[in-house]
Amino acid sequence: MNVETKNASDAKNASETNDISDANDAPAALDAESAPAAPGAKGAKSSIDAECAPAAPDANDASFYLTTPIYYVNGEPHLGTAYTTIAADALARAMRMADRDVWMLTGLDEHGQKVAQKAEEAGVSPQEWVDSIAPKFKQAWEELNISYDDFIRTTEERHTRGVQQFFQTLYDNGYIYKSNYEGFYCLPDETFFTDEALAEFAEQAAAGATQGRPATDEDGKKLCPDCGRPLSYVQEENLFFKLSSFEEKLLAYYEANPKFIQPEIRRNEVLSFVRGGLKDLSVSRTTFDWGVPIPFAPGHVSYVWVDALINYITAVGYGDSSLLAQENFAKRWPVQVHFVGKDIIRFHCVIWPAMLMAAGLEPPKQVFAHGFLLTKGEKMSKSRGNALSPAELCEVFSVDGYRYYFLTDVQFGADGSISLERMAQVYNADLANSWGNLCSRAFNMTNKYFDGLVPELSSEVAAALTEEMGNPLQEIAASLYKRYYASIEALDYSGAMAAVQELVAAANLYVENSAPWALAKSAQLERLSFVMYNILETIRIAAVFFAPVMPNTSAEVWRRLGLDSSLMYADAKKTTCWGGLPAGNRVEVGDPLFPRKELSLI
Ligand SMILES: [Zn+2]
Repeated sequence: MNVETKNASDAKNASETNDISDANDAPAALDAESAPAAPGAKGAKSSIDAECAPAAPDANDASFYLTTPIYYVNGEPHLGTAYTTIAADALARAMRMADRDVWMLTGLDEHGQKVAQKAEEAGVSPQEWVDSIAPKFKQAWEELNISYDDFIRTTEERHTRGVQQFFQTLYDNGYIYKSNYEGFYCLPDETFFTDEALAEFAEQAAAGATQGRPATDEDGKKLCPDCGRPLSYVQEENLFFKLSSFEEKLLAYYEANPKFIQPEIRRNEVLSFVRGGLKDLSVSRTTFDWGVPIPFAPGHVSYVWVDALINYITAVGYGDSSLLAQENFAKRWPVQVHFVGKDIIRFHCVIWPAMLMAAGLEPPKQVFAHGFLLTKGEKMSKSRGNALSPAELCEVFSVDGYRYYFLTDVQFGADGSISLERMAQVYNADLANSWGNLCSRAFNMTNKYFDGLVPELSSEVAAALTEEMGNPLQEIAASLYKRYYASIEALDYSGAMAAVQELVAAANLYVENSAPWALAKSAQLERLSFVMYNILETIRIAAVFFAPVMPNTSAEVWRRLGLDSSLMYADAKKTTCWGGLPAGNRVEVGDPLFPRKELSLI
């Protein structure tokens, strides 16, 4: 990465915490007293192990369906889309480890006027155009280690069929009517703006409350309040959805489901928007044809935003009359959490639940809006020319270093500043010096003192030494699962990672205090075995808790401990019970997991 990129380093997002669980079905599994069979190690045992008892089978088979937005194919994946996707992936992995039946959806929004125009400029059909973009997203998600279960494209037949059924249902239920639309439209954002919204923006701009963005350009042409680009004036026959009939129903839903919109600041924003009154929404376009044709209105295609929102149900079986699809839909819907950026919260918290209600379907359980990633205080975006590419950053910091930084340095839900300098600092402090260094020291000492084998100790000796010396690492590890999942359920990734880092810090301190080199020198073999086992076992457990955010290195740590990393996503309540590391396993030293980065060399 060159200096230019470094100076241009930009943005980032984050949020406040909240809770995605609900009393009925979410955390059931998490709270269940679960139960690992006694692990194979001969390490120390204590009363702490009592919590590690056998869990009831099928305790936790409830569906955990989560989604990212589907990304618009007007460009390639960037820091912002990667941010949302990594966050969703970390939750998906953590929930799989909590033994939930996880289904993670991502995909692409491939319709709309802008796509049609891009294709025309490129001299290809719109389908050819989107076909050329889709592999870039799939490749980016592969590079970032995204474990999605399904990838939907809105040009797929399963989706277009569902959109048509959805429109037909809304029409049959009396929520769609035809009228003329006249007003301003942002083509790049595919967003309509009412005169009132534009007047309000002009007022704010005049009052200097729009971060320097004007309401009109030099020629007096109105500019988009969201992206600052010139608005078009459109006049066409459209279908309208009776959004105005849903004010009371939405407010009642928000009231009854206080966690539906998170974080709290977004909830307040949506509440005041809806209380201000809702206008019917134009849901079709007639001046171009790159969209889903509306069955009862020849010449109309679905407004691209509505088309896009419906992906969340078509991907899990809506619109498919087969028994299998219907069962799947009943199992997966309503979704547990939609991850979105805060800029698309009205679509997800107002329009989408209203349309679902109109179709007789349940609204989502939660919409979590993260903030913006900022560099120099401005929203990160490619159009403003200050975007860093995820691939560039991964090349320097590794995929895990990238994922860790974005999910920890900015509180998920809030806006936050990102910079290369911070990224290097966090990487060096948390990963190179702390976690990576612990692994490196422990593996090297195992190699040196025990010929690379996990030391063996009789349970009697281990118990006696625990009695005499204590085992602070085992104590911290025993309480970690609860603390970790309390943070994860609130989508507080920073908190979850901080909890694991506490264990790592304690282990580094333990190395210093127990000084294995001195024990080796004075030939106190039992003590040395005890201490080294405790350190290695702590590493094994920390790797499990790091895995949702740093899957590659956690798998590598398990491999170096002689463990099958494919078992790392088994029920974490069991895998993180103390004593799971078998004595006699061969430990591999390997290269540093997180080599230090000198900022000046980046
Ligand atoms: Zn715009």
